Amino acid sequence: MKKLISIILPIFNEEENIRPIYNALKSLLEPLEHRYDFELIFVNDGSVDQSWPILRELAHRDKTVRVVSFSRNFGHQMALTAGYDLAKGDALITMDADGQDPPKLILDMLSKWEEGVQIVYARRIDRKDSFLKQVTAKVYYRFLDVVSDVKIPRNVGDFRLIDRKVLNTLNQCREKARYIRGMVAWTGFSHAMIDFSRTNRTAGSTGYTWKKMFRLAFDGMTSFSMFPLKLAAYVGVFVIVTGLLMFAYICWDTLLYQVNYPLFKWLVTVVYIFMGVQFILLWFLGEYIGRIHDQQKGRPLYVIADEINTAKECDEARV
Ligand code: UDP
Ligand code: MG
Repeated sequence: MKKLISIILPIFNEEENIRPIYNALKSLLEPLEHRYDFELIFVNDGSVDQSWPILRELAHRDKTVRVVSFSRNFGHQMALTAGYDLAKGDALITMDADGQDPPKLILDMLSKWEEGVQIVYARRIDRKDSFLKQVTAKVYYRFLDVVSDVKIPRNVGDFRLIDRKVLNTLNQCREKARYIRGMVAWTGFSHAMIDFSRTNRTAGSTGYTWKKMFRLAFDGMTSFSMFPLKLAAYVGVFVIVTGLLMFAYICWDTLLYQVNYPLFKWLVTVVYIFMGVQFILLWFLGEYIGRIHDQQKGRPLYVIADEINTAKECDEARV
């Protein structure tokens, strides 16, 4: 039995890129067909250009190409999710369709996978994005590294290979806010990196508006960190400590130097301290909301990577 490799490509207004990437993949994969079967899965994420007719025609010509089309634009992460749901492969590769993810890396990914690595990331060693995007990406990844509960690799996008085992875990995570690169890291399976330098897209323009990028960044933060909820605790402690210092100072002044503080100054200090108390209570509230949020994500409680002597094997050994 040959192993099946699924390659998933999300498509949002890529009319000029579909045929080139299809041809590149075909010529790359043809020499491997004695070892593997391939299925290409194109997920049309509500394109408004000629992408869908082009995909339909591809699928009619080539029966190893599977295409699906969303009713509207649901976003890159949802397109990847749909691809993962549909894929039948033993290994699954997700990549952009705009030529920024060089197909030839697939060969390295497959050889790493054959060595037993379950997640193979393609890591960008330099990016040719705009200055602003580079800076925001850098700051964001550093921030996420500090606050997030799982280690999410840096400079890694959605160009990667995952093993069927990883997919089975991933498919149990049905959370709505999907930061898939974080979820893949969360599964905790063995991983390897392949470095590459990222070129500009071959044609068309980016489908990632600032708004979409911001939403993805926010999903990443809220799905993998409780830090925003804990902020209230830090503010609360700061306010209470400074408030108590102020209070001590006016007590000192009154008792030792007989300075006469008007009532409103005492009140302001006391109200300030209680503001801090409120922040602490907000943090408590946040902790409960965080737990609800965690529960609501419904991720599996643990992930089993290996099992030796399963119940079935034990039974067989006994007879
Ligand atoms: N994409 C998508 N839905 C969107 C935006 C983008 O399916 O709402 C696809 C797009 O067709 C491409 C991949 O996701 O294959 C990466 O998007 P893009 O190249 O626009 O992002 P960038 O590389 O600029 O970050
Ligand atoms: Mg791109």
